[in-house]
Amino acid sequence: MGRKNIISIERGMSSHWVGDGFPVNTMLSYSTMGASISPFLLLDYAGPANFEPSNLQRGVGMHPHRGFETVTIVYSGEVEHKDNAGNAGKIGPGDVQWMTAARGILHEERHSKAFSQQGGLLEMIQLWVNLPAKDKMSPPHYQEILNAQIPVVALPDQAGSARIIAGQFGDTVGAARTFTPINLWDVHLNAGSEVQLPSPERFNTALLVLKGSVNINGSQHLHGKELALFGPTGDHVNLKADEDSILLMMNGEPINESIAGHGPFVMNTQEEINKAINDFNGGRF
Ligand code: MN
Repeated sequence: MGRKNIISIERGMSSHWVGDGFPVNTMLSYSTMGASISPFLLLDYAGPANFEPSNLQRGVGMHPHRGFETVTIVYSGEVEHKDNAGNAGKIGPGDVQWMTAARGILHEERHSKAFSQQGGLLEMIQLWVNLPAKDKMSPPHYQEILNAQIPVVALPDQAGSARIIAGQFGDTVGAARTFTPINLWDVHLNAGSEVQLPSPERFNTALLVLKGSVNINGSQHLHGKELALFGPTGDHVNLKADEDSILLMMNGEPINESIAGHGPFVMNTQEEINKAINDFNGGRF
């Protein structure tokens, strides 16, 4: 089978703050890209940004989500999470929080106390993953996946390594449980190395460069804070690292269902959105 071709290169459509803790660039959004990124809904890349020491824990206060999952990957800094289902956690470099909001959750996301007091570099990703209609109203769930729990695969020819957050690479199965087939890999490539990353036929695929630069399919260079979106046809992506590089590779089976969204709620119909707003306002989360 063939290689996947690039549909578009994204450089971030909006730069804004989430609360007072997370200066983000939105790299993917269902509101403009629709089904071409399904099962993904949104990708916010926070930082890298430096924070001065402070006694204030910056972040975003209690807010709701319904109908999907939020996946937070920390590269630098430390963030805390607390929700109304009784889950609380702290994740640092290499750690991942996979939160299934499903029928509804209220949570807050902040810089940890220690990171706030020390200050330093914050760099993280938040990826929103859609749920199929049949799972949108299932119970909320929380997976805290620490760095040590994420399997690492050595790439052929000493090209580098891939941490399998979700999905499968060869025989290695990722750490996170997902509702639909998804691969999410933290890929580290050595300068000059070449690699073929598999991505199943029919799956939508996106590749984000966090550090360094790669040549894709021998034709196009992708630099830091740039994301390549690939089409469903083909079963792999060819990369050559121009320098030592850190990439986030994600792909998934499209969920072929209608999408209706409003802020932190993503459902299938406007009626379900109205219900989510009513349920939230009525204290039923
Ligand atoms: Mn949130």
